[in-house]
Parts: sequence; C-alpha cells; structure tokens
Amino acid sequence: MNEVTRIFGSNVFSDSVMRERLPKETYKQLQRTIKLGKHLDNAVANVVANAMKDWAIEKGATHFTHWFQPMTGITAEKHDSFIAPTDDGRVIMEFSGKELIQGEPDASSFPSGGLRATFEARGYTAWDPTSYAFIKGKTLCIPTAFCSYGGEALDKKTPLLRSMEAINRQAMRVLRLFGDEDVTSVKTTVGPEQEYFLVEKEMFDKRPDLIYTGRTLFGAKSPKGQELDDHYFGTIKTRVAEFMEDLNQELWELGVLAKTEHNEVAPAQHELAPIFTTTNIATDHNQLTMELMQRIAKKHGLVCLLHEKPFAGVNGSGKHNNWSISTNTGKNLLDPGDTPHENAQFLLFLCAVIQAVDDYQDLLRISVASAGNDHRLGANEAPPAIVSMFLGDELTAILDSIEKGEEYGSREKELWKVGVHILPRFPKDTTDRNRTSPFAFTGNKFEFRMLGSNDSISGANIVLNTAVAESLRQYADMLENAGDFNAALHGLIQETIHNHKRIIFNGNGYDDAWVEEAQRRGLLNLRTTPDCLPYFLAEKNVKLFAQHRVFTETEIRARYEIILDNYSKILNIEAVTMLDMARRDLLPAFSAFTGKLSETVNAKKAAAPGADCSYEEAQIQKISSLVGTMYRQTQALEDVLLELVPMHCDELERAKYYRGKVFDAMTQLRITADEIETSLDRKYYPYPTYGDLLFGVR
Ligand code: ADP
Ligand code: MG
Repeated sequence: MNEVTRIFGSNVFSDSVMRERLPKETYKQLQRTIKLGKHLDNAVANVVANAMKDWAIEKGATHFTHWFQPMTGITAEKHDSFIAPTDDGRVIMEFSGKELIQGEPDASSFPSGGLRATFEARGYTAWDPTSYAFIKGKTLCIPTAFCSYGGEALDKKTPLLRSMEAINRQAMRVLRLFGDEDVTSVKTTVGPEQEYFLVEKEMFDKRPDLIYTGRTLFGAKSPKGQELDDHYFGTIKTRVAEFMEDLNQELWELGVLAKTEHNEVAPAQHELAPIFTTTNIATDHNQLTMELMQRIAKKHGLVCLLHEKPFAGVNGSGKHNNWSISTNTGKNLLDPGDTPHENAQFLLFLCAVIQAVDDYQDLLRISVASAGNDHRLGANEAPPAIVSMFLGDELTAILDSIEKGEEYGSREKELWKVGVHILPRFPKDTTDRNRTSPFAFTGNKFEFRMLGSNDSISGANIVLNTAVAESLRQYADMLENAGDFNAALHGLIQETIHNHKRIIFNGNGYDDAWVEEAQRRGLLNLRTTPDCLPYFLAEKNVKLFAQHRVFTETEIRARYEIILDNYSKILNIEAVTMLDMARRDLLPAFSAFTGKLSETVNAKKAAAPGADCSYEEAQIQKISSLVGTMYRQTQALEDVLLELVPMHCDELERAKYYRGKVFDAMTQLRITADEIETSLDRKYYPYPTYGDLLFGVR
C-alpha cells in the first residue's frame, strides 16, 4: 500500500470501519437505516455510538460534535467532551446512542426567518447516517440535520435529503415503467469544481475591506491582469504547491476525493475538483473543503479568498456543479446508452432535465443568489444571469429531428421512433465546451455553472433534484396510464421538446444579442438578488416544493427573509467599511500627498524662483479636485445610509434600496478613489495594491 491509499479515509468512520468494528447484526441494521431510511432503535444506536467512540479515541479524539449547516452558509459545531464522572472522582469516556442520534445545541442565534418562536428558540440536530462521521483535530464530527421542534428545517441539509427522496421516488416509478426491476434506489451525484484565490496573509491583514467583506472595495487595476491568460494551467508556484499538497493530504484523510488542481484564469486564482459522489456527501465534502482551504492557507502564510468577486477587473470565482442521476446498480441515467431501450430511457431523463430547467429557471437563479454572486451573474463575466441550456449541436439536431418526426442522419433509413429504433451514435463531445453556458450537457452529466465560490452547493441541488422530480412525476403519471407505452413515450418526448426547446441555446452567452434573443424567447433575466427573490414565493414554486415535501410554505418564506436580510446586511457592512477606509485612510493620505507637493513647490520657488513647477502644480490641482469630489461622495454615501434608518420597509424594499441607492453611491466613490490612486506617489497609498495582492505570492 502506498502512502495515499493508506491515509485515504483514515479519519472517516466509513463503511469498511463499520463492517470491521460493529457486530454483524448491528451493521446490518445500520445498513437498513442508511439505505432504506428505516428507524434505528436505541439498542442498536448505543452499540454504534460505543464503537464510534472507541475508534475516535484511538485516533486521539477527546470531543464529539454534531456538525451541521445552518442558514449562515458555513458549518457549525459545538464541542462536547466524551468525559463522564464516576462515583470515585475519576472520569470515563462515554458516548451514548442518544447523544449520537440527537443533539440540542443552544443555537438560538442562527437565522431562522421567524421559524422558531423565542420561547422555543432551540432547535435540535439529528444524525444523518447517510454521511459518514469523521475526525477533525481532536473532535469526532457527526454530520447532522438541524430542525426546529416543529420539524421545520433550519439548515441546508434537511431539504437536500428531502429532495433526494423526491427524485428517488419519481425516478423509480419511471424506471419500473421501462421494466427495470433490479434497481432499488436512485440518487443524484455531484462533483463540484471549486475556485478560489490565494493572497499573502501579510497583505490581506493590511486591507480592512478584505478583512471585513472578503473583497476589495477600492483598488485600481494593476498594469497587468489576466489578459495574457498566462496563469491558466500555468506552473504552480512552490508555496501554492505546498499548500495544495497539505490540503490534499487532509482531504484524503477525510475521505474527500480531491482529484485535480490547477491555476485558473485570473492571477492568484486556483481550482480544485473532487471526483463526484452522492449529492449529500458531496455537499458535506465541499463544506469541509472550503473550511480546510481557509485553515491550511493560514499555515502557509496565505489567505484563501472564497468571495465570488474579490477583485474588480479580473474573473471572479464560481463553482461548477457537475450533476447526474445514478441507480444503485451503477447506471448513470444521463449516459446515452447503446441499445434502443437505453436510448429511449436516456431521452426521457434528458427531457426531464430540459423541462425542469425551463419551468424552474427562476428557482435555479434564486438558488445561486447572493450579494457576492451578483457581481458575476449578469455583470460582465461568466455565466449570464439568464438561465439557458447548452446541449451541443449534435444532440440538439437529434432532438430537432425527433420533434419534427424526421429521420436523423444518413444512417437512419427508417422513420425514427423512440423506443423502437436505435438512437444514432453521437460522439460524447467533451471538447466542444461552451464555457459561456450556465447549464451545459457534458456527455453524461450536466454542469450547472452559476454557483458562487462561497455558496453551499445544497441550494442548487435542492432545486435541481426537486424540479427534475416534478418532470418525472408528470411523465410517470402519464405513462402509467398509457395504453401503448412506446407510442405514448414517443409523443411525450416530442411534446416536451416542442414545449421547452426555448431553453436550449448553444451560442455565446456573453453576447448582447443573446440578451435580446432570450427576451424574445420569454426567458427570465433576473440580474440581482432582489430581482429574483420575489419569484421564490410564486404559486407554482410553493406548490412544487410542497408537493414533493421539500419545503413547506412557511419554510420558503423563512428562507426568503433570511436571504434578503443577509443581502442587505452584507451591503451595509461593505458601505460602512468603505466610509471607514475613505475617511480614516484614503482621504488623509491623498491630502497628505497634495500637502507634500505644495511644500515642494514652495521650496522650489524659494530656492530657484524661475523653476518649472508644472508637474507639482498640475497634480495639486487635479488631485485636490478629485479629493473634493471624493469627499462629497463619501458624504453622499453616508447620507443614503442614514436615510434608510427611519424608513419602515420590508426586507425586499430594503434589499432593493441597498442594491439601488447604496450600491450606486459605493460605485461612484470607488471610481474617484481609484482614479486618484493611479496619480499618487506609490508611497502614499495606504494599502497593498492590486499588483501586490494579485502578483505578490512568490
Ligand atoms: P472536465 O469538466 O474537466 O472535463 P470531468 O468531466 O472529468 O472534467 O469532470 C468534472 C467534474 O465532474 C469532476 O468533479 C467529476 O468527478 C464530475 N463528474 C463526472 N461524472 C459525473 C457524474 N456522473 N455525476 C456527477 N459528477 C460527475
Ligand atoms: Mg468542468
């Protein structure tokens, strides 16, 4: 065994560890809980807890925690030690089944959107046995869901698990119709590609904007940016390579399948992609990955920025959510097969996704909505805010011919009929990638590219799973009652293509012409978080989530409030940080520079009365005038913030106000400050510059 295979998963209470450490009968009962969701009785839980504890203690653990994902977006944990006192004043290490299954963090400060009345502010955490427990530092972490006592989800895991059940239910119905009796469960799979920036910690520490908001609020472009594309896939610098090595090591120990790493397009930007796995595990793993990236970067004197747009003028960071549907027999349902039977089934699942993306464009957009991601989507870079789907020319042509009832390709002599004839072999095109598409078919999976680097992938997958479950439900309802299955199937596929083909777009998504074309097609273009959030409450969306038991209306409303509230708070922190930087650092520095120039002019004139002072005088004029403007813009920003205080408005109006007036005032202020920066004596700029930040890591 080599080093990597030895350490892989060594900190995970995995299936093989369970098999080895649990009595046969306990293992079997636990498997029933994991695979079939059967209730785990107390006696069994006690045995599992005890085995887990012994294993964890052998690995050096002293504490345990219910690890959960509240609506703050980060993971939460509260540590309890295993110790329990004995009668004779010693301690023993204890961990019961009850402690494993349920926890009660006093978690009243997590956002709940009014779901928990204050008299019952506590929520409880419940073990998710489908995601393995693991050790982090000296703590045994137990992945859990976080709910209120009324059963409402207060976290990002509960609805994700519900959505996986929803797609499982409906996909199973469809597979049975195709005569499949072997499959017993269907799960979605995800491989999230994670982008991030690394900057010198020493420089980060000198920038209040990075410290408080994760992004630069001021800063002129450096003379060089990403225009040469010379960072993309470039040689990885030694320090960064050492960071990646450390990161891999820890991720592997936690059973995370970290696979590829490379430099991204922007300077100082990198990417990590794991091998895909079941969606809820991929979600847990991605949260862990983000957490470890930040911690390990510090060890190397670096800071990992996960903000969606840390720097103006160079690419921001996103996350590509590669998504597919798999059976427990190992078949990928989005893989076009070799037989007519497989082809027809593939086409139906493909249709289910096409229909889902078209019907629930709004929800997909909402699932990636955040203050940070608004700087990417619909701004001037990767993916536009319009949701559309790339299928590639070949597959699009096939769908086109099916819709028209025409034969496809020269090899197909007979009339093409789904379920009867062979789908023409089309190359699984992995090179013809349309990087501008927000939702692309890449051979045997879809890649949803609108996620922000900081997002939990849970939101996007809740929507994907549920929306596709809904298409499948409609298909199953229809096909279960059809007389001639093949004919009904053919009709269904034709009709779906006809009704939903507007969502398919293989062209350049960055093109202005696409914005107009999308509008003609009736597609939504929801540019900002306050623009899209109202759609969350639309009747069709409430119905979708209720019908598939993913969110109740109350839960949707709570999330709607939390997202908007969070959005306004982030913009407020940014605005206040800007004011602070402008008043306490930038304006004084700029003014000091003109003061210094004035002294020089006076000194020069005294020493050599006819000396040329044109540079100094022109600079004094120009900078003084800009500083005056900047001063007034600072006042204006403060005024718009103060105006908001006495206003009584709901969370949507408040978010709109921030996005409108506050954001505009921030933008104006930045433009002026950045202009002054470029005329300034380097020594006078009080912060590390873009050049320092983007090219500083050696
Ligand atoms: P690239 O996008 O560079 O061509 P791949 O296609 O191999 O690379 O994979 C990109 C990501 O998609 C990886 O995280 C990979 O594990 C994931 N992926 C591959 N197949 C699937 C699948 N069936 N379901 C979900 N994710 C997948
Ligand atoms: Mg990719």
